[in-house]
Amino acid sequence: MAKSRRDIFTSFSFTQGEDVEAKVRLPYCDDLSLFQKYCTQCTDKPCVDVCEQEIIKIDDSGVPYLAFDLQGCTFCDDCIEPCPEDFLDATLPTIQGKIELNILKCFSWNQTMCFSCKDPCIDDAISFIGLFRPKIDEEKCTNCGFCLKVCPADAITIKGLL
Ligand code: SF4
Ligand code: SF4
Ligand code: SF4
Repeated sequence: MAKSRRDIFTSFSFTQGEDVEAKVRLPYCDDLSLFQKYCTQCTDKPCVDVCEQEIIKIDDSGVPYLAFDLQGCTFCDDCIEPCPEDFLDATLPTIQGKIELNILKCFSWNQTMCFSCKDPCIDDAISFIGLFRPKIDEEKCTNCGFCLKVCPADAITIKGLL
């Protein structure tokens, strides 16, 4: 069973400076403060090796993050079991982050037809107003990251929550 807030006895904080980019952390944790407390940056980092998408990478502070420039997260659950800290929760298939679609960069918003981001979104979180003007429904979006790499205009980003 995954740990809860009441299990917290020790606290751990990342060595993040003010200028450190906010990276997207692992799925199955709906509270970044829990991730900061429980991810001990363990020596073997088995989460990295088991990820079927090979998107779990280690940042300069030794903390795992999701590299959405490579691929998206399938929510395959594989990173949960090998984590020695037992805090990732399979009942929380979500990723903490803030997704943004830059309408200044987006081809569709600038009158060139493009549906590249819509097809990979299995959560149907991207809808178009007419044939142009895509919008992301943040209520439906899981921050899986699959729409980022396919966007030819590099118009979609997901920032982690510091
Ligand atoms: S759920 Fe699967 S694809 Fe997603 S980060 Fe974990 S191991 Fe990788
Ligand atoms: S396996 Fe768990 S404790 Fe180890 S680096 Fe990955 S998330 Fe952190
Ligand atoms: S990040 Fe959100 S909008 Fe993009 S493919 Fe995943 S669910 Fe859809």
